[in-house]
Amino acid sequence: MSALQPVRGTRDILPEEMRRHRVVVESARAVAERYGFLEMATPVFEFSEVFKRTLGDTSDIVTKEMYTFKVHEGEEITLRPENTAGVARALMSGGLAQQLPLKYFYAGPMFRHERPQKGRQRQFHQIGVELLGVAQPLGDVEVIALGAHILQELGVYDATRLELNTLGDPESRRGYRAALVEYFGDHLEAMSEDSRARLERNPLRILDSKDEGDRRLVADAPLFTDHLNAASQDFFAEVCKELDVLGIAYRLNPRLVRGLDYYTHTAFEFTTDRLGAQGAVMAGGRYDGLVETMGGPPTPGVGWAAGVERLAMLLQDAPAAPRPIAVIPIGSGAATAALELTQRLRHAGFAADLGYGGNPGKRMKRANKIGARVAVILGEDELAANAATLRDLDTGGQERVSLDALTERLARYR
Ligand code: ATP
Ligand code: MG
Repeated sequence: MSALQPVRGTRDILPEEMRRHRVVVESARAVAERYGFLEMATPVFEFSEVFKRTLGDTSDIVTKEMYTFKVHEGEEITLRPENTAGVARALMSGGLAQQLPLKYFYAGPMFRHERPQKGRQRQFHQIGVELLGVAQPLGDVEVIALGAHILQELGVYDATRLELNTLGDPESRRGYRAALVEYFGDHLEAMSEDSRARLERNPLRILDSKDEGDRRLVADAPLFTDHLNAASQDFFAEVCKELDVLGIAYRLNPRLVRGLDYYTHTAFEFTTDRLGAQGAVMAGGRYDGLVETMGGPPTPGVGWAAGVERLAMLLQDAPAAPRPIAVIPIGSGAATAALELTQRLRHAGFAADLGYGGNPGKRMKRANKIGARVAVILGEDELAANAATLRDLDTGGQERVSLDALTERLARYR
């Protein structure tokens, strides 16, 4: 451990990568607003109880991945591993349940103590949406359509595939759960220790196991689709029908699960094969039981979260940095005039960079290094004539322009 290294699983995001992140977040936010999903933010940390209750004490996140610490008053705090629990908490503590339906967009850092690798960090970032108070399949469809639209806007939709499943209503779920307990109960000796422990408390999670032996058993396990009651089948058929109407392609994946009891009906994931093992880009579903689990009124909900790092990696072209105007004073007499001029340009809406020191050649080099589009050179001659020399750094062409006409002339370089 070295105090001069970033903590394992965390990293600095320098400007080029930051621009990718910003494109992801800003595009998503703008598209979300068109659907009426407005941005909100919950605190980065919450009482641990918020996550323990909602994620369930058998989930990987709660059992292994949470950053939890005690603070002075003995309160137990956790850095948020995801944002749905925080939004549900806000719904109750902010008295928002009176204003349903609500549509929220969020973006920000999340924290999970897992093994770092490409596309998997301990501090990562998510964008996400939550639709609260809508019980109809149309809600699921709109939330998925919004996700697809964002992926299209980012130009990565064609690199992804939508996988879709249903987990049914609570009644269907109870039936399915019983079938799983019976099936896995006959194969205890072949199961991982983790999964044996899950059998009692949360057999659905076994379907999600990464263990080789478990996976072989899972391949022959009963399917949820065979345990759906009529109401659940109708709900899912409606979701599929409307997705078809919108031309959103999907692949049915009966193995796609969410392990927790408050998940109902639709579960979906946009995945890609361009990121190696970390193929999940955007994941979501319906969570009608969540708010009640937290002690609130029964409130239907559906949403998704997507990894900003993974989306940023999928982007084809990193957006370019803005190309500034380089202001280059020549001779000490021009320094103050150059400072004033630079400020004037910035207030006029230009990105302008003032060469601080060194000879004119050095400053010109720096102008090229920061990708300046044009240099404004201020020497004693120019000052005497109340003018500047404009050099087009792409063509090398040069002209003298009076200071009064400068901003107008520069506008063509924007
Ligand atoms: P995975 O299967 O990759 O572990 P997950 O099921 O834990 O994903 P969710 O909790 O559904 O993921 O989070 C939604 C999205 O957040 C994921 O699809 C992924 O893009 C992103 N994500 C999750 N965990 C990480 C992480 N540790 N580092 C980077 N991105 C992550
Ligand atoms: Mg995970």
